[in-house]
Amino acid sequence: MNNFTETGLADVLLKAVSELGFEKPTPIQAKTIPHLLNSGQDLIAFAQTGTGKTAAFGLPALHLTQVEDRRTQTLVLCPTRELCMQITKDLTNYSKYMKGVNIVAVYGGSSADVQIKALNKGAQVVVATPGRAKDLINRRKLKLATLDRVVLDEADEMLSMGFKEDLDAILSKMPGSRQTLLFSATMSKEVMGITGKYMNNPVELSATQMNTVAVNVNHQYYMVHARDRYEVIKRIADINPNIYGIVFCRTRRETKEVASKLMNDAYNADALHGDLSQAQRDEVMNRFRTRQLQLLVATDVAARGLDVNNLTHIINFNLPDDNEIYIHRSGRTGRAGKSGISIAIVHTREGKRIKEIEKKFGIKFSKELVPGGKEICTKQLYSLIDKIEKVQVDEKQIGPFMPAIYKKLEWLSREELIKHFVSAEFNRFLDYYKNAKDINVDESQERGKKGKREKRSRDERRQTAFTRIFINAGSKNDLTPARLIGVINEGLRSGEAEIGKIEILRKFSFFEIEDGMAVKLIDALKGKDFEGISLSLEVSQERPEFANYQKSKSPKHKGYKNMRDKWKKGKEKRSGGGGRGRRK
Ligand code: ADP
Ligand code: MG
Repeated sequence: MNNFTETGLADVLLKAVSELGFEKPTPIQAKTIPHLLNSGQDLIAFAQTGTGKTAAFGLPALHLTQVEDRRTQTLVLCPTRELCMQITKDLTNYSKYMKGVNIVAVYGGSSADVQIKALNKGAQVVVATPGRAKDLINRRKLKLATLDRVVLDEADEMLSMGFKEDLDAILSKMPGSRQTLLFSATMSKEVMGITGKYMNNPVELSATQMNTVAVNVNHQYYMVHARDRYEVIKRIADINPNIYGIVFCRTRRETKEVASKLMNDAYNADALHGDLSQAQRDEVMNRFRTRQLQLLVATDVAARGLDVNNLTHIINFNLPDDNEIYIHRSGRTGRAGKSGISIAIVHTREGKRIKEIEKKFGIKFSKELVPGGKEICTKQLYSLIDKIEKVQVDEKQIGPFMPAIYKKLEWLSREELIKHFVSAEFNRFLDYYKNAKDINVDESQERGKKGKREKRSRDERRQTAFTRIFINAGSKNDLTPARLIGVINEGLRSGEAEIGKIEILRKFSFFEIEDGMAVKLIDALKGKDFEGISLSLEVSQERPEFANYQKSKSPKHKGYKNMRDKWKKGKEKRSGGGGRGRRK
């Protein structure tokens, strides 16, 4: 489909869409729009971030809205307040020329009364976060009986953020006749759970192949020692004076650290993560959207759905644990026909990961060398000269000062004068890079240093204080590291707790979680169902539970034996040294 007019959408929508500069439907839109306009059948749609999913469900939903009827006809559920506002803004733009359609956003962390007032006026389309939606449904302010369709946007993210119970509560109350649309960037067991339980014979559409948008992304990686990661960001920013990008970090802590270092080093950067208040988040995002900020340092969760165009760079401070997330991150640049660069900062052990991503998604990375001091200074210098050449001179303002200035600088020749001006601006830079080292790592030289490196990585990990936890589920219950992380995130209702080492054994498992979160997590998961068992977690300090399990049966599992030996050794050490008993 090459044209929006072929979709059968109303003229008022086509007009708005064309004003927004949408020339033709994206692949997922080309698939979903005709389906939704012609059929009430449930729909599952997979497409990666940035492929236009909002319009894919929004345009047909608006087209089908009966404007003379003020009852709620479409409910869109999405994971965060930011997305909620963004979707509402997008739908409002699409419906600019539709008379009488009212779109209302309801989300947590903001007064319910104001939202209830808006609902009472009659909103045909409601965009909501699951928690607030459930609350308003229970209070009978949001009525489901009249719904024609419910849209689960970013379903995977809603589930991994722990909204499963809220979604269950909402979906189980839906009228039988409604159409359910599920949009997700990835397919997971949890997503399948929802589709199986609440959807009726859904048609499955997907546009997950690399689309035209992502083709414009140039994937690069830099290989350095872990300790030099930050230096790489600095050099990337320095060699690209007009950089406008997102630096993705894995945890809140890392996000804060990287952002505050950048700010201290006078870069135009700030952090976006879950610890900020709503007002702070809005403020940071606003500055980023209006390009007052050049670098946004963010966690995946905080940046999810944040729709900013024209980004020049995506920087992966760390590769994400899940390869698919790399594709989401990088898909935030190279949009709308523009090209963009996605950079992964990796250390030698991660070379494998780059190959994995290349193979799985059919993309190619180029290995780039971290620019050296001379290269950066040259670039910065020319950028400065260019700026001087093009600067707007305000004759009127500056005129009166000039005679005195000319007089003072009279003794300098033209050449000398230029040198002085450039140095005044540039000495800081020259100074910093004067003795800059080459921080690139040569993969071939790295072989053999592996042991040392692993020790260092262990040391690095120790900087975060972890609590080790025992959980009564293991591979026998289909527990995998990924599912365990899902269970943890769901329990904590966020994906931002730092998780350390995970050991999945047959009947039970151990994992580490950042100190402050352990008690909260144990409480949250207590008695929760996992594959038919009731979960029970304990802090595993002296590991008494391990002894009990040892008695129960003698499993042949090799991992178990290793664990047991390790544990015994640890115990000896502990009793001998009289240490605290916490595993390091
Ligand atoms: P997703 O939900 O899949 O991550 P969005 O719906 O937020 O993606 O859309 C991403 C960007 O693409 C937005 O800026 C949106 O305005 C733009 N967009 C959507 N559809 C089109 C289209 N058909 N043509 C051009 N741009 C589009
Ligand atoms: Mg979206």
